[in-house]
Amino acid sequence: MQIDVMTLFPEICKSITEYSIIKRAINKNILNVKFHQIRNFAKDKHKRVDDTTYGPGKGMILKAEPIYSCFENICKNLKLKPRLIYMTPAGKLLNQEKVIELSSYNNLAILCGHYEGVDERVINKIVDEEISIGDYVLTGGELPGMILIDSICRLLPGVLSSSECFKKESHYSGLLEYPQYTKPNVWRNIKVPDILLSGNHKDIEKWQYKKSLIKTFNIRPDMLKKYLNNQKNFKK
Ligand code: SAH
Repeated sequence: MQIDVMTLFPEICKSITEYSIIKRAINKNILNVKFHQIRNFAKDKHKRVDDTTYGPGKGMILKAEPIYSCFENICKNLKLKPRLIYMTPAGKLLNQEKVIELSSYNNLAILCGHYEGVDERVINKIVDEEISIGDYVLTGGELPGMILIDSICRLLPGVLSSSECFKKESHYSGLLEYPQYTKPNVWRNIKVPDILLSGNHKDIEKWQYKKSLIKTFNIRPDMLKKYLNNQKNFKK
């Protein structure tokens, strides 16, 4: 998969691709992430990319033309138009279902806004989808864009050791994950639950499922309701 990112701050984003699992995915050629400096596509001599908002509001808005030219250049290089996602608090909330859907694309592009946002005209002209990472407002779309890439990256075949790694995780199944433990089996006098040392895989899976249900009930009753409804419909 290739992801082209349009931003005024490529350095913020780049560091995320230089460590751990994302770095490995890039080294294995499973993922390619390219950063495009929107400022390079500003046409005036001051390389201006933002301007004051029309109307009484305060703050700066990213201009339409540099973003449009930047995206045109991406399309020209790729010889196709990638699905373009604008990261914005006014978008649809990101969830694992959406991440799974996006992980099936060969090409994606991400527009990171900044300051007070982006001129609506360029959003309407080139953006396919607006995504928010949560009900709060950040200074820029760089971290949200990298969160989207990170969540997609770990689903790409060959990135994690097996698809089991993410299929049993929180949100994939519709439930929160059960508690996990590692060695040693006694730490500061606290023992790992006996069942995990029993070697009985069936019983362990039952225990994990029960713990998942309890945890989801306590922390995300909304998720549990949805999960149980889906189970009911599935059985019909
Ligand atoms: N005035 C805008 C907020 C601008 S925040 C509004 O009220 O909707 C500046 C930039 O940060 C946005 O253009 C967007 O790219 C990014 N951003 C801020 N919060 C975000 C969130 N929760 N999810 C995704 N992107 C976000």
